[in-house]
Amino acid sequence: MSERAAPFHCPYCGDEDLRPHEAGHGAWECASCNRAFQLKFLGLLSRGLKSNDAGGDGI
Ligand SMILES: [Zn+2]
Repeated sequence: MSERAAPFHCPYCGDEDLRPHEAGHGAWECASCNRAFQLKFLGLLSRGLKSNDAGGDGI
């Protein structure tokens, strides 16, 4: 996995004409509205994992 997640649409104008920005690392620029933006991974959600069989306090 060398490529990072690529946006399909511009978050500002909704156009699909996106290309990587020179700033790199998740930076994209929209050829339609001339905006540059950056995607950032914030972290994993804490509610994602279920571990019901971890506890035994049901006695
Ligand atoms: Zn745009």
